[in-house]
Amino acid sequence: MKIAIVGAGIAGIATAFELMEAGNEVSVFEQHRAAGEEASFAPSGLMWPCAINPWGATAFQQALQLGMTRPAFSELQIQGGVLSSPRRWARRQQAVAKKLRDSETLPALQSLELLAMQRMQHVQEMLDINGQFSQGLLLPLRKEPSAAALYELTRRLSAAHIDYQRCNEAETRAIEPGLATEIQIAGALHLPEAWSGNGRLFSQGLLQALQTHGLKLHTQQAVSGIQSAGHGVRLQLAGGTQDFDAVMLCAGTHTNQLLRPHHVQLPSAPIYSYSASIQISEESLAPRRAVIDLENNMILTRQGSRLRISGGAELGYPDNPERSEDARHALISVLLEWFPGCIQPSQSILQMWRGARLTVPDGLPVVGASGIPGVWLNTAHGGFGWGLSMGCAHHVRQLVMGQSTSTAPEALDLQRLR
Ligand SMILES: Cc1cc2nc3c(=O)[nH]c(=O)nc-3n(C[C@H](O)[C@H](O)[C@H](O)COP(=O)(O)OP(=O)(O)OC[C@H]3O[C@@H](n4cnc5c(N)ncnc54)[C@H](O)[C@@H]3O)c2cc1C
Repeated sequence: MKIAIVGAGIAGIATAFELMEAGNEVSVFEQHRAAGEEASFAPSGLMWPCAINPWGATAFQQALQLGMTRPAFSELQIQGGVLSSPRRWARRQQAVAKKLRDSETLPALQSLELLAMQRMQHVQEMLDINGQFSQGLLLPLRKEPSAAALYELTRRLSAAHIDYQRCNEAETRAIEPGLATEIQIAGALHLPEAWSGNGRLFSQGLLQALQTHGLKLHTQQAVSGIQSAGHGVRLQLAGGTQDFDAVMLCAGTHTNQLLRPHHVQLPSAPIYSYSASIQISEESLAPRRAVIDLENNMILTRQGSRLRISGGAELGYPDNPERSEDARHALISVLLEWFPGCIQPSQSILQMWRGARLTVPDGLPVVGASGIPGVWLNTAHGGFGWGLSMGCAHHVRQLVMGQSTSTAPEALDLQRLR
């Protein structure tokens, strides 16, 4: 088949790999000058297990927050009056999240993340791409959370078959010797099998490899419309139209613009978060693995010789230098509180970034038929788009090729949200 992919973020590039491997002729259309310029620019990097990523909407992620007194920066901040669309979306999200039980969402998330890791391993065996991968995740607990909260969290980890160790303070410090001695640590949960990596670096490497195998990448080519044409789909581009047998929308926050003329809607909202990436100046004092600060809802990962710390959640706020400065301050303060000495505080930040986590109310991605003949969706991955990238791409490949999927199609398609 001749297939077009709209969007060269992590999702579009992973989808290109899967569809090319299945023998299709693939073209990717990207509106920017380069791939990975939007949500895939500088994500935190957590890959597996997704269930422990605090930026999801499932009951599991709510359990991560039990017993925590959390500062304002870590909570979802919404701008707009009671009738505004951000508030309407947040109300809907809260209503869905209240009703959600892990029994409904966890199986889909877990089967998708298992598939994602299997496919990632497959890609690595074939292409050996540098993704600055690192293993292990620590959740240090600054003060003793209530016994009930810790019980609930560990119960869910066990139920989700996620291997963890409960550590006392001495064990925690042995795992991460750079942890500040001033902080009183009640203990930690250590997930030795967790993985994180640099999603942008990996997807750029994958894109280059695919181009040498015949992928056609069209940058600075915005797709302005899609329409059915005979047995296929016609793309409207600045220079005219092109026909394909099928089209994959991996267009992130722009997805609704292409769906709207067909009266199809993705009930999603872009939740904006920040990341700061900083050069490590003292390796012996730097974290060796990913760390989640549950109190501040911040994620700290290794990206080669750099650290990346991410946090914040904004809905309805435009990009604003003052808020960005506040975010920079909050992120760096927390990093220095946990790991003082690993960066030079005076050192300017290599990169400060604000990006969107496009999220639907149940927090799972939307992967499957769009309702428009020949047009498929792989989008709205919330805080999991990097970790699940290869799994979502393989899932949509199986659907397009008419093969059975390991995750039930109804668990991920757009229909479930109607
Ligand atoms: C601060 C932060 C931290 C995160 N941390 C993690 C994490 O730890 N783990 C994890 O798994 N995920 C994480 N995420 C989420 C992850 O980054 C996203 O889910 C993922 O990057 C989404 O990829 P995408 O390809 O769907 O979207 P995008 O990267 O936004 O790609 C969409 C692309 O489509 C293009 N496009 C759109 N419309 C058109 C059009 N009409 N014509 C041509 N091109 C078009 C856009 O230009 C863009 O390049 C994080 C996100 C943020 C913001």
